[in-house]
Amino acid sequence: MSGVTVVTGAGGFIGGYLVERLLGEGHDVRAVDIKPLGEWFQRHAGARNQVGDLREMQPCIDAVAGAREVYNLAADMGGMGFIENNKALCMLSVLINTHMLVAARQAGVQRFFFASSACVYPDYRQETPDIEALKEADAYPAMPEDGYGWEKLFSERMCRHFREDFGMVTRMGRYHNVYGPSGTWDGGREKAPAAISRKVAMAALTGRHEIEIWGDGDQTRSFMFADDCVEGTLRLMRSDCDEALNIGSAEMVSINQLVDIVEEIAGIKLKRNYNLAAPKGVRGRNSDNTLIKARLGWEPQVSLRQGMARTYAWVHAQLAEKLKEGALDRSAA
Ligand code: NAD
Repeated sequence: MSGVTVVTGAGGFIGGYLVERLLGEGHDVRAVDIKPLGEWFQRHAGARNQVGDLREMQPCIDAVAGAREVYNLAADMGGMGFIENNKALCMLSVLINTHMLVAARQAGVQRFFFASSACVYPDYRQETPDIEALKEADAYPAMPEDGYGWEKLFSERMCRHFREDFGMVTRMGRYHNVYGPSGTWDGGREKAPAAISRKVAMAALTGRHEIEIWGDGDQTRSFMFADDCVEGTLRLMRSDCDEALNIGSAEMVSINQLVDIVEEIAGIKLKRNYNLAAPKGVRGRNSDNTLIKARLGWEPQVSLRQGMARTYAWVHAQLAEKLKEGALDRSAA
């Protein structure tokens, strides 16, 4: 296969798995991220690993030199605690996708994938825990998550117009809550599955059987295991589907049910303390997979119970290691 396959955000959570998969398929992969190499979640020796700030034009030009395909996963992002408090930073990711598209077009890239998000969906469709699953068409009339969601929706449109006006093949996947081992699990950017795994693991390791839950725990979500995210991304990239497509699990649970699952995996029961002042995000969210099944003949496969067992085991091991080193305050769960 000739030509380089570029993955941006390759030092991040999903990017690391995507690079691994593409290398396994025999592609010549250039992996790019702003983080110093030592901070990448996964670093694959077989890839051309490159550090650059893709908000700037020149690093984008360097990233796409000789490229055939681009997977743009780079973005400044995190869980609810991060995106509710860093709207400008989230919106600045618009520079990344815009410059990557311009550079990719100049370099004659054949296919361009953009990692969008369920945060493009309007608040008014997510106001109750028992909401109807979100269909792709529900994104308009637009009222997405402030900051992060607006950036994703704008960048989707930029991809669409590069296709319509310049004939570039662009693909847009709307990821819904991706989780798994090798992700962010502490520090403020972590999302619910990793945060809850950490809190339960902390309780298991310290014997302090309590957990803080953000909100009343009745808010609902669906969570997709990282392997499914990579599979969906590749299937969409290689399809003829021009529209933005949900890549998400349709297995909806409340945050309380997610805690039940992790408690069961860990074999403990915890006293739940609800922090009603914490960032909560929308009240209910699920992925409607009618379109992905029709267009790709596929939807995510890994059950939440299976995926969380693997995630919990990984987070538990990280936490145990840090506690052993004395690098973590035992009361900071
Ligand atoms: P992540 O934060 O682990 O990875 C993103 C990577 O982008 C990071 O390693 C970061 O250093 C890099 N990056 C940020 N700014 C950069 C810049 N200026 N130049 C180069 N690299 C830069 O996040 P992730 O969970 O792996 O998400 C990957 C993509 O999927 C993101 O675009 C994200 O918005 C999208 N997404 C993720 C989820 C999810 O649940 N994880 C849900 C919806 C959408």
